[in-house]
Parts: sequence; C-alpha cells; structure tokens
Amino acid sequence: MQALVLEDSTVAVRDVPVPEPGAGEALVRVQMAGVCNTDVEIARGYMGFSGVLGHELYGVVEACEDNPALVGKRVAGEINQACAACPMCERGLGRHCPARTVMGILHKDGCFAEHVTLQQACLHPLPEALEDARACFVEPTAAAFEVLEQVPVSDRDRIAVLGDGKLGLLIGQVLATTGATPTLVGRHERKLSLARAQGARTAALDALDDNTFDVVIEATGSPAGMEAAIRLTRPRGTLVLKSTYHGPLELDAAPLVIDELTVVGSRCGPFEPALRALATGAVDPDAMVDAIYPLAQAAEALERAQQPGVLKVLLDMR
Ligand SMILES: [Zn+2]
Ligand SMILES: [Zn+2]
Repeated sequence: MQALVLEDSTVAVRDVPVPEPGAGEALVRVQMAGVCNTDVEIARGYMGFSGVLGHELYGVVEACEDNPALVGKRVAGEINQACAACPMCERGLGRHCPARTVMGILHKDGCFAEHVTLQQACLHPLPEALEDARACFVEPTAAAFEVLEQVPVSDRDRIAVLGDGKLGLLIGQVLATTGATPTLVGRHERKLSLARAQGARTAALDALDDNTFDVVIEATGSPAGMEAAIRLTRPRGTLVLKSTYHGPLELDAAPLVIDELTVVGSRCGPFEPALRALATGAVDPDAMVDAIYPLAQAAEALERAQQPGVLKVLLDMR
C-alpha cells in the first residue's frame, strides 16, 4: 500500500506492506485523513518519531476478529492505544498509560496510508448524519472538548482563546456549546471572521488589557503564545496549554507564582461529545477546509498545511 513515511527527517510517499492487525486490533481502510500541526512538528523532530505519519482519520473497518459487527462500519479512531492493565488504565486514564502507543506519534504507524490498524476499543462508529469531510475532525474536536473536561466554564466566565489556527477555532466553537462567548485572539482577518461568523468575539492581542480573563487557552502552536497567555490571565485564573511544538520554552515563572495561576496541560479528549457536536452541526468545521489532496500527493499536502493562512488540509484515500 501507499503511505506517507517519515524517516531520517524526510517525508515521502512510499510503498509499504499492509499492516497486520495485532491482538485486539482491527484493520481499517482509511477514507480521509486530516493534516494537523502536530504532524508538521513531528516532521521537524517533535517526539523523535519515524514511520507512517497521521492521526486524524475516518475509515471503514475491513477486519476485526474480536468484534465482527464492526466490519463495514464507518469509524473514527482514538489515537492512544493503552495496555488496559496498569494502574493508570485501571483508573480510566488509558490516554496516559505509560505503555501506550500513539498512532502516527509514538511507536505506532499512522493513518496517512491506505490502511491502518487500531485496537477495536479505539474505534467509534460514526453517526449516520456525520458527513465524510467532517468526520476527519472528530479527533481534533475531541481534543477541544478536553478543555471542558478539565475546566468547568460558565456563560459568566471571560474566556480567551489565543491562536486563530485550526485548533483555536475548534476550541472556540466547543466553548460556545456551553453558552459562553469566548474571545478568539489572533492576527489573521480571514480566520477571525470565520470565528465571528460562528458567534465568537475576536480581538488582536494588543487591544486586550492585562489580567482580564478568567480562563485563557493557549493554542497558538508556538512558544511565544505562553507569555501572552500569562499576561491575559487574571490572578487566580486558569491557563490551559494546548500547543505542542518541537523544542523548549523559555519562561519567566514569577507571574504564575505571584498571580497564583492554575496551569492545566491539555491533550487528547473524549470522542462521544465530539461525534455528537459534529453530527448536529453544533461544531461546524466545513469552512476550515482549504485543500484536499490524494494520498499520492501527501508530501505536498504537508507542505501546503505549513503555508501562512492555510487552515485544514485533508487527504482523500477513497
Ligand atoms: Zn492532531
Ligand atoms: Zn496501561
């Protein structure tokens, strides 16, 4: 099969063997996949990964020994495969299992390929109403919902989302499902107008006063966002970190101490609310799709995703 492979810091579409499902795994024929900033950072060296890239997909189950009822079903796939036996897994924290593999990120080939294998516990059948192109957004929308799992927000809270990229826009929409009106902070008029069309307030960073937000979500995807996020958060407020990037962050931690900020790291999230919100249109990412490439041009798709102003780039394997 064809797959986009990262090896020795270069990415290229190659012919590789179709993966063999391991114990408890299903074989999934990938239908569409989304390019994420994390893929770009991984190609730059984040996580030290090599193998098939990609972790946002929907597909059709081709084989599943443990659950044959899944065969033929359209599914989205969770990316963390846990051991199901360690203390973290016993606490229901499989996404933090120390023995986990993570599709396209850690010791597990990803979905920029014709086929991928995934534990059947990671598969979520798609609601009928969930359209194909939208189904690629289940994984990043779940990551946006993780903020609500970690930080209760109400419509009285002043909430800022720093970063008008794909993840920032999704987080803004997910926060709006609670009745809150988040302020999306960014620099790109086209992206900010998408957020406004979906009911968010928008602002440039310079226009905002220091220490004014109860909750600030840092989703800029770059180290510079952290300083701005600290500056905007009110004393005793909550700062949620969503960005993943290659390389260290230099930080003056004094304001965290003086203002007694709560800092929350946030990564992958629950699939069920994401599936519901995408199926009903409560979260509507359609306007974020900028380009769709065939798998054979996956390397070009990864390039395109890095160009300024570009939002979502999808791969179509159908
Ligand atoms: Zn992602
Ligand atoms: Zn475990």
